[in-house]
Amino acid sequence: MLQRAREAGVEKIYLPNIDLESIPQVHALSDAHPDFCIPMMGLHPCDVKENYEEVLAIMRPMFMERKYAAVGEIGIDLYWDKTTLPLQIEAFKKQISWAKELDLPIVIHARESFNEIFEVMDELNDEKLRGVFHCFTGTIDQAKKIIEYGDFMMGIGGVLTYEKSGLDKVVNEIPLEYLVLETDSPFLTPKPFRGKRNESAYVKHVALKLAEILQLPIEEIERITTNNARRLFYEK
Ligand SMILES: [Zn+2]
Repeated sequence: MLQRAREAGVEKIYLPNIDLESIPQVHALSDAHPDFCIPMMGLHPCDVKENYEEVLAIMRPMFMERKYAAVGEIGIDLYWDKTTLPLQIEAFKKQISWAKELDLPIVIHARESFNEIFEVMDELNDEKLRGVFHCFTGTIDQAKKIIEYGDFMMGIGGVLTYEKSGLDKVVNEIPLEYLVLETDSPFLTPKPFRGKRNESAYVKHVALKLAEILQLPIEEIERITTNNARRLFYEK
């Protein structure tokens, strides 16, 4: 899979963390391929349970032992479980405070939760906070609100290639400096591989679709979105 990603022109793969169990996998993959697979650390909103404070207390010291590209994935998910919303909000806020302390970007997971996320962001956003709304599938108004936060981008994935998503109209209204490309592997596989397991190499098909929608050369899309990703993660 990594080989196919390299052949497709992928230079770096950012690995979001999910919960405590995923940490050894994220570390093992990034240790084996340190310049290619870049780890993040965070507690995913779908895995915020009653014990979230203990989990966060285990994760926080890890930032002192290892370099992470971002605090992520964090955010709010009301598709899978609405009952944990108050806990999800607290875990999200706590991890935003880490990002500020550590000067790291945040990678936000938002599913059926834009209003709740915007409420937290309106309260906590400042000049220091930066990041990305990953797998953005929102409206033009939601995109505009994200842009107003100042230092936030939108991650575009395979959904862009789905005819009924309506995302084509939205990306047409967003300046290209605010977009980064992603896969969300193994989910949200772009066409023509929809229905199969997603993998990093397929980000190419997201780029091709964006080039088609914006009527720009693919090289231009690759250059600008790659620069955006570098800016997002402050790579030199
Ligand atoms: Zn996500």
